[in-house]
Amino acid sequence: ARKFFVGGNFKMNGSRASIKKIVEDLNDADLPSDVEIVIAPPALYIHCAKELLKNPEVKVAAQNAFPKPSGAYTGEIAAPQIKDAGADWVILGHSERRTINKESDEFVAEKTAHALENGLGVILCIGELLEERDTGMTLVVCNRQLDAVIDKVKDWSNIVIAYEPVWAIGTGLAATPDDAQSTHAEIRQYLAEKLGEDQASKIRILYGGSVNGKNAKSFNACPDIDGYLVGGASLKPEFIDIIKSRE
Ligand code: 13P
Repeated sequence: ARKFFVGGNFKMNGSRASIKKIVEDLNDADLPSDVEIVIAPPALYIHCAKELLKNPEVKVAAQNAFPKPSGAYTGEIAAPQIKDAGADWVILGHSERRTINKESDEFVAEKTAHALENGLGVILCIGELLEERDTGMTLVVCNRQLDAVIDKVKDWSNIVIAYEPVWAIGTGLAATPDDAQSTHAEIRQYLAEKLGEDQASKIRILYGGSVNGKNAKSFNACPDIDGYLVGGASLKPEFIDIIKSRE
């Protein structure tokens, strides 16, 4: 069985004070032991989040990592530094970086391979734009984004996929459980073709896009939805409700 996974992507939000509050709420909550929980504060706050966390089961992620171990790359952060600060995971390929920062599929794949080689787990984000969905291109886009990584990475045991349709991110308009489930099933089928049934059956595929404390439970009956990557709601107390949504 795939362990349920809930990630909180804080994006470029928060301060020392607000992140301390989120971590304290997590410390005080009675968290389920059968859910893998990962919070991704801005890189500046990884160390402080890690120091404040009392529950060793709650892990920390970075939101990006450059594919070099060190060097003259002003403004970038390296996977070994992320590990040194106390994080075990990194989010890569988020749609905001693909669109705003113009990251190509190949660059995301290079970063994924490098992060894995340096011992980080990777939350690999994929997903289509609204116009791609409207023209029936959802799977073409997701498969293309996956192909770039499949070319470089054969062992996917430390990758969690986050399917985040771009039209659902930050819009309040989550995918319906039926739509999300059918896309997740098709993604898993594609992974089975490329990586084999065994690997594909073990890869967690998270849904992301306007998940909140109220709608999280509506995905409970979806067999290919193995958790969530949460943006806005991960900054609020309802993040705990999402973590507990399978109870
Ligand atoms: P929202 O939950 O704010 O829609 O963001 C989703 C997301 O982009 C998580 O990575």
